[in-house]
Amino acid sequence: MPKNSPTSLDPRSPLVLDTRELPRRPGALRTVERVVPAPSDLGVELISVPEGADLDLDLRMESVSEGVLVSGTVSGPIRGECGRCLREINDSVAVTIQELYAYENSTTDATTEEDEVGRMQGDLIDLEPALRDAVVLALPTNPLCRQDCPGLCPDCGVHGDDLPADHSHQQIDPRWAGLSQLTRTEE
Ligand SMILES: [Zn+2]
Ligand SMILES: [Zn+2]
Repeated sequence: MPKNSPTSLDPRSPLVLDTRELPRRPGALRTVERVVPAPSDLGVELISVPEGADLDLDLRMESVSEGVLVSGTVSGPIRGECGRCLREINDSVAVTIQELYAYENSTTDATTEEDEVGRMQGDLIDLEPALRDAVVLALPTNPLCRQDCPGLCPDCGVHGDDLPADHSHQQIDPRWAGLSQLTRTEE
């Protein structure tokens, strides 16, 4: 096992997995169950996991011949804004992760592209990129507070829920209609 491999990862960082306790023997397993604070910008423009919110990691690390396979689920709260009516959305997201991290200097390391397979840095795995990809993919680019959200009236900005079904701005407002009658009598 290469010792003191150059690494930029901090083993104490919440999204770094340390495999020192995992024997490098195919089939060896370790589970990782922890709650970590969500990193910043975990999401898309209109909806994301609030920074620092509790992310639940429920993962297992399995030694395979060329590296470590990390699989399991990550879940956490999401907060955002409805793309139609701008109301706040509070929901949760759970994503599945399955990612192979090749040992440094393994055949897999030497024969695959950087973006095909993850890489271990010494005994450490940086979970953040895979976690980010999985969460971002799972989030809607146009989130809705509910599937049939009626949105806002484009003319007066009032929420469709608060308007009668026949709400429209085509007719003359009844108050003005009365006034125009008044004008006519004067003529
Ligand atoms: Zn809405
Ligand atoms: Zn309106």
